[in-house]
Amino acid sequence: MATEKTFYLETFGCQMNAHDSEKVIGTLHQQGYRQVESEEDAGLILYNTCSIRDKAEQKVFNRLNDYKKLHKQGKRFGVLGCVAQQEGEKIFDRAPHVSLVCGSASYPKFGELLVQIENGGRHVTGLSLDTGETFDTPFTRRDNPHRAYITIIEGCDKSCAYCVVPFTRGPERSRTAASVMEEARRLAAEGYSEIQLLGQNVNSYRDPSETAWDFATLLARIAEVDGIRRVRYTTSHPRDFVKPIVDAMDANPVLCDHVHLPVQSGSTRVLAAMDRLYTRDEYMRRIEWIKNAKRRYSLTTDIIIGFPGETDHDFQQTLDLLDEVQYDSLFSFKYSPRPNTAALQMEDRIPEDEKQRRLLTLQEKQRAIQIRRNAELIGSIQEVLVEGRNQALGQWIGRTSCNRTLNFSHPDTGGTDLSGTYLSVRVTRAGPNSLVGESACVV
Ligand code: SAM
Ligand code: SF4
Repeated sequence: MATEKTFYLETFGCQMNAHDSEKVIGTLHQQGYRQVESEEDAGLILYNTCSIRDKAEQKVFNRLNDYKKLHKQGKRFGVLGCVAQQEGEKIFDRAPHVSLVCGSASYPKFGELLVQIENGGRHVTGLSLDTGETFDTPFTRRDNPHRAYITIIEGCDKSCAYCVVPFTRGPERSRTAASVMEEARRLAAEGYSEIQLLGQNVNSYRDPSETAWDFATLLARIAEVDGIRRVRYTTSHPRDFVKPIVDAMDANPVLCDHVHLPVQSGSTRVLAAMDRLYTRDEYMRRIEWIKNAKRRYSLTTDIIIGFPGETDHDFQQTLDLLDEVQYDSLFSFKYSPRPNTAALQMEDRIPEDEKQRRLLTLQEKQRAIQIRRNAELIGSIQEVLVEGRNQALGQWIGRTSCNRTLNFSHPDTGGTDLSGTYLSVRVTRAGPNSLVGESACVV
């Protein structure tokens, strides 16, 4: 009797990785595998990894070490994603019990690689970056029943001095607009009402077919798909963030009230050292377009603290930028030296304790800004997509178009699950990271 094929998959890192995993899981199901909840129960153990910062990378080696003993029971291990691409066959030296090392650019061949390990392949690899292919599959197994990701562009052609992505995800390649539109329509027909377009550099999208739509055109068209009530996108590079994107958003409220525009630093000198391809003034021009738009858009960003050579003055400029822009939220990271990157050779490293001090200063400033920004929403009515219920608090959890979590009370539904519905909620309280309110749908 054939034994059942089972797998366990753990995902680290960004939304691109989360969605890659959904597609990998779809492929595994297609090849007769069943997903299980623990390493112990699985025949095949997969880690979809992230190497954007050193801590993320270390996690996968810790996992491989923790579960090494399971190899003796005949279980197979696979390392997927960015660490796989970055470390390549060296993973077999460090963890000989691994059977498969596969970077994201090789996912279109993932099914074939699976067959190789099923047939006893000891050290199977998918590591070529020389591809124009994107990983399009109809077999995606989606985690969320209401919000669906669509990857529209893979890889990255920029060369930010600190970043491994161009080395781990390969060159930029856009999907055809026809295949993106077809997926959006299919998702709408299946009942998904929110679409999130993904790409490491989502707004440098360019349809490779004759129609040659740019990102703003694609946004506008997706927003017109029947049944789609919300469209989000991430991550935009400021250099490719052009005014028509704001115009498209203004023209159709289905395009959510949120722009994530990573700045990384408020100092033009540091931006040049990072090879970010814009100055502070150029970045601020984009912020002005957004602030002068017809709707109020929530603005969020990413910041790296302690890039080599960052002086107190540079850091102060980043703090000043926070005052000037008034972001609604931000992700802040201490600079982490990464293999292959240009910054690795740069002198004038910032000591760890100084990076930590700057990070805390920045986060404290941002917290005060967020408290203020969120308080401005008290009394307003926000439409939320209901994401679930917090039983302990007796509240429903909603997400606003401006991407805030809004926990709210609602009269007893008699056991009806409100998840997936859109409701109007009045904001009654605000904290630094979320809002509280009450349903405004009842009289
Ligand atoms: N493509 C996006 C852009 O250009 O802004 C960023 C994608 S990257 C996966 C997400 C964030 O990780 C970056 O915006 C940056 O702030 C951070 N990051 C990337 N490399 C880093 C490094 N070596 N050290 C610290 N943070 C890093
Ligand atoms: Fe990394 Fe820069 Fe590409 Fe973003 S644009 S993925 S930060 S290299």
